[in-house]
Amino acid sequence: MSKQLSAGDFIEARCTRCRAVTNHTIIAMVGTVPARVRCNTCDGDHNYRAPKVKKVAREKSAKARVPGAPRKTKAIQQDEQQWQEIAGQLQSGQSVPYSMENPYKKGEAVNHPIFGVGLVMDVLAPNKVEILFEAGRKLLRCRQA
Ligand SMILES: [Zn+2]
Repeated sequence: MSKQLSAGDFIEARCTRCRAVTNHTIIAMVGTVPARVRCNTCDGDHNYRAPKVKKVAREKSAKARVPGAPRKTKAIQQDEQQWQEIAGQLQSGQSVPYSMENPYKKGEAVNHPIFGVGLVMDVLAPNKVEILFEAGRKLLRCRQA
């Protein structure tokens, strides 16, 4: 451990006159705690106030932490918005049951046994389609068109 403080030692303390943490000289001790100190910058005597550097840092990091769900990406928000717009149409309109054995084309409505109704957003490869479901975009296999 560090050596015990005593009167005449230098110590960092908060000075009300300087409005900053400055070097102080200990004038009087109470037990192991400095009681009165003299600011080496303004030469003023005052009661010892510990510099509150650690506490401030802790408050800042607590504020930065945001509880709850992770932030959604813009792409996911756009997908959800698009889904809201097309959901009614899809659910009331005609959709074909999804099967890997079927070919699909852009704009087609499909009905997936797990994901429900969805809209074919894009054909990414001859045997791969991107479909927007309520749960988000999914890449699914299909028969080569
Ligand atoms: Zn001072």
